[in-house]
Amino acid sequence: MVDRQMDAADSCYSTPQKRKPTLSIRARLVILALLAVVPLMLDRVRLLEQGRTERIDSAAANALELARRGADGQREMILTTKTMLQVLARAYIGSLASGTTCNFYLSDLVAGMPWVNGITIVDADGKVKCSTVPRAIGLDLSDQLHLRSAMETGEFTVGKYTIGRLHKVPTFVAVYPTHAINPSVRAAVMTSVDLQWVNGLIAALKRHTGSSVLLVDSAGTVIAGGLGKTDWTGKRLDDTPFFKRISQGDEGTLRGDGLDGERRIFGFVRIASTDARLIVGLNEAEALSSIDREISLAYLQLGLFGLMVLLIAWFGGERLIVAPIRSLARVAERFGRGELQARPTRTAWAKEFAPLTAALSNMAIRLAEREQQLRDANSHLQELASSDALSGLANRRSFDSRIAADWQRAGKLGRPLALLMIDVDHFKLFNDRYGHLEGDICLRRIGKLLKEIVTGTDDLPARYGGEEFALLLPGASIDAALQVAERLRRTVEELCIAHASSPNGQVTVSIGAASLIPALSEPAEQLVDAADIALYSAKRRGRNAVVAHSAVVLSEANRATA
Ligand code: GH3
Ligand code: MG
Ligand code: MG
Repeated sequence: MVDRQMDAADSCYSTPQKRKPTLSIRARLVILALLAVVPLMLDRVRLLEQGRTERIDSAAANALELARRGADGQREMILTTKTMLQVLARAYIGSLASGTTCNFYLSDLVAGMPWVNGITIVDADGKVKCSTVPRAIGLDLSDQLHLRSAMETGEFTVGKYTIGRLHKVPTFVAVYPTHAINPSVRAAVMTSVDLQWVNGLIAALKRHTGSSVLLVDSAGTVIAGGLGKTDWTGKRLDDTPFFKRISQGDEGTLRGDGLDGERRIFGFVRIASTDARLIVGLNEAEALSSIDREISLAYLQLGLFGLMVLLIAWFGGERLIVAPIRSLARVAERFGRGELQARPTRTAWAKEFAPLTAALSNMAIRLAEREQQLRDANSHLQELASSDALSGLANRRSFDSRIAADWQRAGKLGRPLALLMIDVDHFKLFNDRYGHLEGDICLRRIGKLLKEIVTGTDDLPARYGGEEFALLLPGASIDAALQVAERLRRTVEELCIAHASSPNGQVTVSIGAASLIPALSEPAEQLVDAADIALYSAKRRGRNAVVAHSAVVLSEANRATA
């Protein structure tokens, strides 16, 4: 119940509606332009990013290919070494049968292969039987892992890649067991192979801009190579995430900030028969420099294009839509201020504005016509309100306002203002005798005469009331006023309108004249009173007479002294 009451109360107080903020036309145009441009831009960005990914993939494939080529070279070297050791093993088995010593042909062989550091033959117990290094003869090498492995498996074995202690040159040891050829002969041919070729490979690969080569053994030690210009030989990578990743597969690619902080794209390959890995890294910035430049340029172009579209939408909207609307609104505002001749100035607007412009022009024409009609009606009304219907002269109201204004003006200028008060004699009798209509005709004729007798443009003839007329003569002295009054009296007389009930036998008028230089502190009635007194005096003198107010004052004074 209470809730219902509250609802009813709420509905009585209508909360003022919040106006939703609306977007301007230009803002909408900009949004439209963006909607048109953004998908294009996004598509271009997607293509560019796709191109970059492809470039990265291709750089990775390139790095892997380079690593593969290096690893292939190494595998060939191992195979060559194996073949050589196989040949030596056969020679050794042969020498055992013929009883010749094994030392003499070893020296000749090594001389032809500069990458071979030395060749040694050990017996089943691991003792050196003959060697290109004479001081090695008799040494016990049975503790060497690769030798033991070869003796046990009976297969060609490649030892770990190591860095030579003396010359800091990377090497590996290869062992070929003789019982792989003849099971009854248990011995092994060993050689240490110089890996100087890796440096050759590094030099060759470095011709590829920004490339680096690393040869890393199974324990994560760099056997040869480096990153950038730094030689990394001997460095241990075993606890780096980088090594953990490359040690998981036989070959592959990876991207990252690598090991020296520079981002690289790596390709790595495990060298066949060993756990060593050859890694080729290409500098990412250099590999991607051209596409990155292209992408930067494209982003710049997109930015400029977007900006251009926005500017075109903004200023185009201003020029094509907003400016015409503003101009039309200004014209409508001027109409409101009454400047109906105002018209839109520009004509080169979009044709959609033509109906609006035409409608505005039509509206202005209609308004001007309507205004003229109103002005005419108004002036007509004014005329009706200020004129007397019977005589066509100014009516009493109009006379009152005019005499007040003329009184003020004359007072300020110190000039005289004269007034004639004109009254038809025995007019009641005229009406009684000839009827009211004839009376009206008579009043109309006197009115017409008053109009004709006036010469000064500022003079105002008026119907003061009933059969009484007034003539206001600004600037006229009493003499000038008397002259006009006399002329008027005579002219009425000359109209010869019969008035059988009047002692004169015809219609006559009595006129009281007054002329004063107004004192602004006094009201205009002073003049009317003065003219009235004079009129009254004219009536008393027998009518059909003109009397000046000054004369009245004088005669009153004479009577007082008599
Ligand atoms: P006096 O000479 O003293 O002025 O005598 P009078 O008869 O003219 O003066 P009075 O004031 O007694 O009479 C005025 C008459 O004027 C009375 C009235 O019927 C008449 N009258 C006033 N207005 C009109 C009008 O509009 N038409 C007609 N026909 N007569 C009018
Ligand atoms: Mg009268
Ligand atoms: Mg009268």
